[in-house]
Amino acid sequence: MNDEVKVKQLSVIVVGAGIVGASIAYHLARQGAQVTVVEQATPGSGVTGHSFAWINPLGDFPVAARALRSQALVDYQRLQQELPGLKINWSGALCYTDAVLDSKHANDRGTDPSVNWIDRQQIGQLEPHLQVLPERARYAPGEGSLDPIATTQTLLEGARAHGARVLTQNPVLGLQVDGKRLVGVETALGSYQADCMVLAAGCGTPSLLQPLGIKLPVSASPSILIRFDAPPGLVKTLISNNQLEIRAAADGGLLVAEDYIDASGPQGPDAIAQQAMATLRQSFRGAEGIVLRSVEVGQRPMPQDQLPIIGLSDQYQGLYLAVMHAGVTLAATVGRLISQELVQGQPCAELSPCRPARFNSDHRPL
Ligand SMILES: Cc1cc2nc3c(=O)[nH]c(=O)nc-3n(C[C@H](O)[C@H](O)[C@H](O)COP(=O)(O)OP(=O)(O)OC[C@H]3O[C@@H](n4cnc5c(N)ncnc54)[C@H](O)[C@@H]3O)c2cc1C
Repeated sequence: MNDEVKVKQLSVIVVGAGIVGASIAYHLARQGAQVTVVEQATPGSGVTGHSFAWINPLGDFPVAARALRSQALVDYQRLQQELPGLKINWSGALCYTDAVLDSKHANDRGTDPSVNWIDRQQIGQLEPHLQVLPERARYAPGEGSLDPIATTQTLLEGARAHGARVLTQNPVLGLQVDGKRLVGVETALGSYQADCMVLAAGCGTPSLLQPLGIKLPVSASPSILIRFDAPPGLVKTLISNNQLEIRAAADGGLLVAEDYIDASGPQGPDAIAQQAMATLRQSFRGAEGIVLRSVEVGQRPMPQDQLPIIGLSDQYQGLYLAVMHAGVTLAATVGRLISQELVQGQPCAELSPCRPARFNSDHRPL
């Protein structure tokens, strides 16, 4: 941003009210920016609403995203201080997939000070209903999960408390350009102008950029979320193993995340949900009565190289991009860093591997 913009209050339009856009809006408004959020449907109605929502700093991210992900837990703890309505279930996470126990990965993850390796007996104490206990597991006691829609709403309430306005049911139809500068957005309810437009529209971002001649290499990557009614207390931590990821939901049910294989048939989402139910019934004492509630497929915005795409465009002034996978894990941290960059005008080193310019054909990494 130039000096003139820094002196007057910076105005920003955030397109998209998923967890990423909501966090950016909150942090910007808290830092004194004049923020307008424009969402085509309702907050969290994109992939955020279908998320397993594990705050998973040790997840399978590209190495260049490590500096970002390593700040996730601290940033969510900070957010809980700032926003008392923000609920996080700090249940701890138990991991015993082959990948985690594999020695290559153990070097990467097993040396993390926030992780303990625990034995069968300790696993049984943490998960007393688990029928077959693995020999050992990686236990991250500081990890947790959240209700992604409630969190998105809490972040937006926090943004409103700092003066932001949130326009829902209002699709952005186009971006307003003046030469090589973005000046505003055309929406179903009229046009809005600002100093900077932050596009946090998830899988909707590439189509917004297309008329500007920008081809953003982001694809929609499906993943399955299954909800069950279950007896309370059946699963106590968050478990990730070879067969599934499972945790208790805020409403007392169970959530399971599964890989997407096919649209229908024996490897379609419904069949996978039936297999997950059978696995749960076998795996946990007391799970015989669990009932399948829903099977959902969410489309994750997946950058071609899996690294977040965060930063000012080098092609249009006033255009800032914020598209990423593992957006639940990263939202608190990227919200803080993006607001720092835009309001204080200080580029953040942690975001340097994420710049959109890396996709330009003439880009040479430093
Ligand atoms: C099954 C599953 C499990 C997952 N598990 C995890 C996990 O454990 N941990 C983790 O970190 N991540 C997980 N993810 C990924 C995570 O959910 C996403 O990375 C994150 O929700 C992305 O948030 P977002 O705000 O960028 O996108 P979205 O939630 O999609 O938000 C984008 C918003 O933009 C709006 N929009 C789009 N186009 C327009 C337009 N033209 N005008 C106005 N608004 C527009 C959309 O309506 C939407 O609300 C999981 C995803 C799935 C599907």
